[in-house]
Amino acid sequence: MTKITVAKGDGIGPEIMDATLSILLAAGAKLDIDEIDVGEKVYLAGNTAGISNDAWETIRKNKIFLKAPITTPQGGGYKSLNVTTRKTLGLFANVRPCKSLHPFIATKHPKMDVVIVRENEEDLYAGIEHQQTDEVVQCLKLISRPGCEKIVTYAFEYAKKYGRKKVTCFTKDNIMKQTDGLFHKVFDEIALKYPEIENEHWIIDIGAAKLADTPEAFDVIVMPNLYGDVLSDIAAQITGSVGLAGSANIGHDHAMFEAIHGSAPRRAGQNLANPSGLLQGAILMLKHIGQPDVAEKVQNAWLKTMEDGIHTYDIYKEGVSTQKVGTKEFAEAVVANLGEEPQTLPKVNFKNAGIIEIPKHVRKPRAEKVLVGVDVFVDWEGTDPNIIGEKLEHMNTDVLNLTMITNRGVKVWPKGYEETFCTDHWRCRFSTVEGKQPSKSDIIAVLNKAVDNGIDTIKTENLYTFDGVRGYSLGQGQ
Ligand code: NAD
Repeated sequence: MTKITVAKGDGIGPEIMDATLSILLAAGAKLDIDEIDVGEKVYLAGNTAGISNDAWETIRKNKIFLKAPITTPQGGGYKSLNVTTRKTLGLFANVRPCKSLHPFIATKHPKMDVVIVRENEEDLYAGIEHQQTDEVVQCLKLISRPGCEKIVTYAFEYAKKYGRKKVTCFTKDNIMKQTDGLFHKVFDEIALKYPEIENEHWIIDIGAAKLADTPEAFDVIVMPNLYGDVLSDIAAQITGSVGLAGSANIGHDHAMFEAIHGSAPRRAGQNLANPSGLLQGAILMLKHIGQPDVAEKVQNAWLKTMEDGIHTYDIYKEGVSTQKVGTKEFAEAVVANLGEEPQTLPKVNFKNAGIIEIPKHVRKPRAEKVLVGVDVFVDWEGTDPNIIGEKLEHMNTDVLNLTMITNRGVKVWPKGYEETFCTDHWRCRFSTVEGKQPSKSDIIAVLNKAVDNGIDTIKTENLYTFDGVRGYSLGQGQ
């Protein structure tokens, strides 16, 4: 018996959760269920997190969480419960298998069988945003070495466990050399430990185009959070329907399983919704909690039901489908098929399924970190870079001198081009004078000069080398 937490969620959530649980229990899943309330009701009762402390304690205690989609009310102040749950419980890996069911579900990609492994805690989802000037806002993209090591190792261990042949990495490291560059670098390092698994890296733009056009070229794809969020929906949709895919959110101690679609409020309460996405999430859960035989039985019965053409409205197609059914009737059809196997689609065998263990992160010895300068960000409403360049030279000290100004990353001083459009947000680089070694006090001295000269500084970013390697990007055009 495994204790799990269940949340029935909002919109179509309660119907698809009841359908899913009825199938699992009929198949003999050994589940001891604690139900909690999360989502819209809780938000509207004034809890901006959408979850009570008691419900949190239940999730923390039981460790395994099966969650139906929830509605985040429109308007400010409500925090996404999904993002909070993933980050608070350290659910670093989001796994979404996307497989075609040709010829039973219409798809342009009959051979597609891709697993997207998405980093789930970092990247632009850190939610650290600031308005810095009238014209410019900023979102911090944070990528850590432990974060990259965990997700890339997970992707290779997943491939190993499930007999997958290749792991592909998608990044945009030709542009983001530090952040995506680190992700790619860690991918290359870890790939060396798995010589039996093929590995490759694609720049995300052409990789995404290839995935949309020729998904059978891919097997397991690992990527940072934002790209994974977008591409896993595309991958699910091109198998035939985003409503057929489930996802697993995996951490060292906790895991959450769900459908990838939302709460579809317009379809709620009408016995219309397709429970397949949540059922697929629940099957991933059964594999994770050591009940692979039940998972296999449910999956084979579901595939048989798909083959029989017993379809909900969203996937019903004249000529392919035989019966249009509601949520409840679909679940009953799957239950009636328990013990049966698909005839055309390959039946599944989950003999090897189980928890994918990855080693706890071991910190590398610290690199030698040397301060070599500072970028001072300035709010200035003028437009001529030569004028701000002249003003800022008053901030020079014996140790740090102005060497470059960029506007939205493009070098505009010295020797910019007058065609370059400039906003009110200027990044001003002060580099070390030959033969000197700056300290933090030297940065403060530069900032004090800004105050003395009426220059509006917004923030600073220290420039370091790590074991002699530059730890910051150059300006475009530098
Ligand atoms: P949605 O996924 O709820 O619906 C998109 C479309 O797909 C709709 O036309 C809907 O009718 C259809 N659809 C989705 N699931 C279906 C199913 N199981 N069976 C049949 N048809 C289905 O996306 P949305 O409309 O953008 O979002 C609605 C709400 O869901 C929002 O409040 C959003 O915040 C929330 N949401 C929650 C989650 C989650 O809890 N994991 C994820 C995404 C969106």
